[in-house]
Amino acid sequence: MLRIAIAGAAGRMGRTLTETVQQNEGCLLVAATDRAGSSVIGADAGELAGLGPLGIEVKASLPAEADQFDLLIDFTTPENTLSNLAHCAELGVPMVVGTTGLSAEQTDQLKSYAETIPLCFAANYSTGVTLCLQLAQQAAKVLAEDSDIEITEAHHRHKVDAPSGTALALGNAIAESLGQSSEESFVLSREGITGAREKGKIGFSVIRGGDIVGDHSVIFAADGERVEITHKASSRMSFARGAVRAAQWLSDQPVGLYDMRDVLGLS
Ligand code: NAD
Repeated sequence: MLRIAIAGAAGRMGRTLTETVQQNEGCLLVAATDRAGSSVIGADAGELAGLGPLGIEVKASLPAEADQFDLLIDFTTPENTLSNLAHCAELGVPMVVGTTGLSAEQTDQLKSYAETIPLCFAANYSTGVTLCLQLAQQAAKVLAEDSDIEITEAHHRHKVDAPSGTALALGNAIAESLGQSSEESFVLSREGITGAREKGKIGFSVIRGGDIVGDHSVIFAADGERVEITHKASSRMSFARGAVRAAQWLSDQPVGLYDMRDVLGLS
């Protein structure tokens, strides 16, 4: 039985993760945290997830000892994820991280912890998006020569970072497959008299509104034809199921950095 702790248990993803862990016979929720000072501290994680009481109280900090939990799933904020990584690295506890919006420096810091613990970090834990990353790389190799590559994404009104981690991951996967650097090829926003589109760039467009769970498209626009690879998430369950699958897979892996492609055997 894999004993899982969830960080950010009161969040949109945290609540869905609690439900998913409970549904999985191989997993047991043993700890839940949320932000110190939040009104949910002391609440039951099961009640927050709409499941009824589970006897797991939401606390402001993680368990202090390594023998109290086997793995942490963290979908919170960059600052909190980095602080949890320091704690888990000290205890030798593996982590599944879904937090997005990390700066380049924070991403480097995160990656450094993979020298100490097994760490899975993916901007999107859905199986469909993971497959789209592969498809986009394959399509780019065939189409990039004659096409302009644009990535569009749409999310709910509460999302705080843009473009989404998934849109950036799609862009990075494409840039990598073309041997380009993302710094040089990404056009993250456009406004005013931009001039004509430069060849070889990867453009991004962002929509925020309502309760959109997450839509992503990669568009390869050539003269006379267009290929679009689109993924639409209709429920957070797709991310939570993927994260719990990653947790079960990661618990058998040695120290190192992994992503969802490794979990699904696509890398
Ligand atoms: P949310 O705001 O609903 O939830 C975040 C939770 O973290 C909140 O309950 C907040 O109080 C808590 N939190 C903040 N600081 C904390 C701290 N110091 N200690 C403990 N808890 C703390 O956000 P969300 O929609 O659940 O998304 C969370 C993150 O996951 C975002 O970065 C989002 O982009 C990302 N996300 C990733 C995927 C993926 O598949 N990788 C999917 C969906 C969302």
